[in-house]
Amino acid sequence: MLVGRGKRPIVLGIFRGSRRSHILKQALLPADVWSWLVKDHPILEGLSLDELARLREQSTLFLHEKIFEGADGLELTDGMREVIAVQACLPILNLGAEWYENWKTVVVVPDVFIEEHTEFDAAGVAHEWDEDNSGESWDTGPVVLSWKDVEASGWGDGYNVIIHEAAHRLDLLDGEVNGRPALHEGMKPGEWLEVFSLAYEDLKGKAGRKKRRLKIDPYAVEDDGEFFAVTSEYFFEQPGVIRAEYADVYRLLCAFYRQDPWARMSAPQR
Ligand SMILES: [Zn+2]
Repeated sequence: MLVGRGKRPIVLGIFRGSRRSHILKQALLPADVWSWLVKDHPILEGLSLDELARLREQSTLFLHEKIFEGADGLELTDGMREVIAVQACLPILNLGAEWYENWKTVVVVPDVFIEEHTEFDAAGVAHEWDEDNSGESWDTGPVVLSWKDVEASGWGDGYNVIIHEAAHRLDLLDGEVNGRPALHEGMKPGEWLEVFSLAYEDLKGKAGRKKRRLKIDPYAVEDDGEFFAVTSEYFFEQPGVIRAEYADVYRLLCAFYRQDPWARMSAPQR
C-alpha cells in the first residue's frame, strides 16, 4: 500500500519548510556533540559524509519537533535526548521526517517498566500497561523507552530498542501494526507477505527446537509486527546476520528503508 503523502495544504508545507530551515540555521547540533554521537554509535559506521550531514539535520529537527518526557523519576539530559534522536532518525534517513508525523512524544523511564502505568496522550486517551517492557508504542500516543535499554542500543550487537519501537511506528503508518508497512511505489505487497511469512515460519520452527542456538532473537516470532521490528533491529545493528539468515528479507528491508547497511559496514573504511 502506498502512503498518502503530499496531501498536506501547500501553505502549511511552506510554513513548516521555512521553520525547519530556521531551526537548522540557528540550532543545528553542534559539531563537537555531533562528532561524539557518531563515534559513540558503531551502527553509523560507513555512512557517507552526505548521509551523516542529513542525519545530523534530521536529528536536530527530531529534537525540536518531538516532545521528550522523563518519567518514573528519570531526569532527561540533552545527551540522553540526542542519543535517542540520532538512532530514531537512522531508519528514516532516506525516507523523510514525514514518516514520523504520527509520533509526537518520547517518554523515557529508567528501567524496564514493571509497574502499572497510566498515561494520557495528546488526544486524552488513557493508556495502561503492567508488564515487563523495554519499549512500548501505541497508535499516535507516546513511544516509551527504558533508558537502560537505550544505553544497550547502537553497539552493533543486534539489539536496539529505539529502532524496534521506530519500526512499529513506521509499520503503523498505514493503520495497523502487522509487519507490513506502507510500501514504496514498485514494491510488491504480495512478495513482502510471502518472503516475511516464510522467514517467520522458519524462525518459529527453529525456536521450537530448543537446543538450537538462534542467531536472531526469538522474540521476533511473537507476531508479524514483532518480526518486522526485530529484523529491523538486526538490519541496522548486525546486517550480516539477517542477510545470511534471510537474504530475501534483507533485500526487501533494503528496498523499504532505502539503505544497505551491510554494504556500507563492509566497505573499506575511509
Ligand atoms: Zn515490539
